[in-house]
Amino acid sequence: MIELAKEGLRERIVKREAAPAEPFAIGGFAVITEPIPGSAQSATTTAEPAPALVTLRRPRKPPSPATTAPRRGVDPPTLELCRGCGYFVWQRDAACPFCGGDVAAAAATHAASITAAHAAAASIREILDRVRNPLPTPEA
Ligand SMILES: [Zn+2]
Repeated sequence: MIELAKEGLRERIVKREAAPAEPFAIGGFAVITEPIPGSAQSATTTAEPAPALVTLRRPRKPPSPATTAPRRGVDPPTLELCRGCGYFVWQRDAACPFCGGDVAAAAATHAASITAAHAAAASIREILDRVRNPLPTPEA
């Protein structure tokens, strides 16, 4: 660079190609050598910039169908609650990685106890209803 300045020249990086609008995209740049404005070299040479010395560019590859196809929504993977320990596990896991229990069996046991609890609550509601609203006693 100091050697170039002795000759009244400088190097400058110019953008030749904008980066495409995609993550980690790379644009094209070139290093040009040009006269330093106001130097003797600039007075004697034309205003034309020197040809590009280096061009940085990502190699072009044809777009793959995955990138050109419209993106469609995909449901995220769902987790299932292990009723044995209360941790969420992948649905594909037959045995819980946390407690080692059978996730499906624990879910069935839980569902059965929920059904029993609903039945017990219904019978309690029925008893309370009878206490609050007793049947009229038959007239003697
Ligand atoms: Zn578990």
